[in-house]
Amino acid sequence: MSDLDFVSGGKPIGLERGEGTSLYTADGTEYIDAGASFACTPLGHSHPAVVEAVQEQVGDLTFVDSSYPVQSREDAYAALVAATPDGLDSAWFCNSGTEANEAALKFARSATGNSKIVAATRSFHGRTMGALAATWKDKYKKPFEPLAGDVEFVPYGDSEELAAAVDDETAAVILEPIQGEGGINVPPAGYLETARDCTEDAGAALVLDEVQTGMGRTGEMWACQKAGVTPDVLTTAKGLGNGLPVGAVAVQDWVAEGAASHNATFSGGPVVAAAVNATVSTLVEEEWPAHAAEMGEYLTAELEAALGDEIREVRGEGLLVGIELKRGANRVARDLAMNHQILALPAGRTVLRLLPPLVIDEAVADELVEALTATVAPEAQSDA
Ligand SMILES: *Cc1c(COP(=O)(O)O)cnc(C)c1O
Repeated sequence: MSDLDFVSGGKPIGLERGEGTSLYTADGTEYIDAGASFACTPLGHSHPAVVEAVQEQVGDLTFVDSSYPVQSREDAYAALVAATPDGLDSAWFCNSGTEANEAALKFARSATGNSKIVAATRSFHGRTMGALAATWKDKYKKPFEPLAGDVEFVPYGDSEELAAAVDDETAAVILEPIQGEGGINVPPAGYLETARDCTEDAGAALVLDEVQTGMGRTGEMWACQKAGVTPDVLTTAKGLGNGLPVGAVAVQDWVAEGAASHNATFSGGPVVAAAVNATVSTLVEEEWPAHAAEMGEYLTAELEAALGDEIREVRGEGLLVGIELKRGANRVARDLAMNHQILALPAGRTVLRLLPPLVIDEAVADELVEALTATVAPEAQSDA
């Protein structure tokens, strides 16, 4: 376990096997994965469609670089482009969320000839030098400064301040449609439309970071679709390969023109491409985003009913759920793991984040609610 000491939030739980929403230790103890895998397994752990696609591909051809056409890569591009909003007609694969955002900012600079980036307070876009520069928290940034870029931060959710910050020197506005790491912050209605309008007027690129909100989690394949807004650049990763390390940038044509001199050795490797194709196709064909919408409503209503005044608020969309507690979220996450075998994540000091696989059913949702009630509102539970 000693290597875990290097990782913030390391937990002494040795996991060996996963299936659906469950994870198991070597001795067979079951944990419910309500977010501990950072939204990386939308179809649940070791989903058979993904496992089969990956096993077949790794045996046939593990890797050749992206200058050769390979069927699994072609299929992954086609599946991803078909699943993104109309207008996002090309995609580029990378290995993670931060790399997707790094590429997005480079593409926006190259396509606009500008360098200024507008980002939001409480944002999280990744930990490499460029994406980190657009990330809000000083704790993540300070030890590594100076970072790459010319980034202006505006208060998340404030349309007027956003519009005022965007001008003809702006390369990009980068936003999460709902902030994940920053506390599951849902912007007011009209915010993304304002972001769309002001970037369009200024000739800047709107980059929507859907690394956490995408892949069906909010009840649509992409959160921007709920707002009816198509960005110039959409970034995705986390759940894109249902657990394999892969990210992507989907772009409109005018941005794609600036992308030519960017690449990465492992871009769209055949094995991760097979995982992407299986994940995206299964999510779309089996309509898991709609299930996420339904289960999100169910879970939110049950949490509100059970936890009542013991918490401040339940917020989010679909299965991107934040519970604003009246106490520290780290401690609650730890109690849930150690006493109830529920793995959940904090998102900021007082917000507990639930990001279960989209395949969660009511029985598992009920278990989550019961464990949370026992942890944060034990009296409410004994009254019931
Ligand atoms: C996790 C996350 C990232 C970074 O992704 P990595 O794969 O860890 O680099 C970027 N943006 C958002 C919104 C995220 O949630």
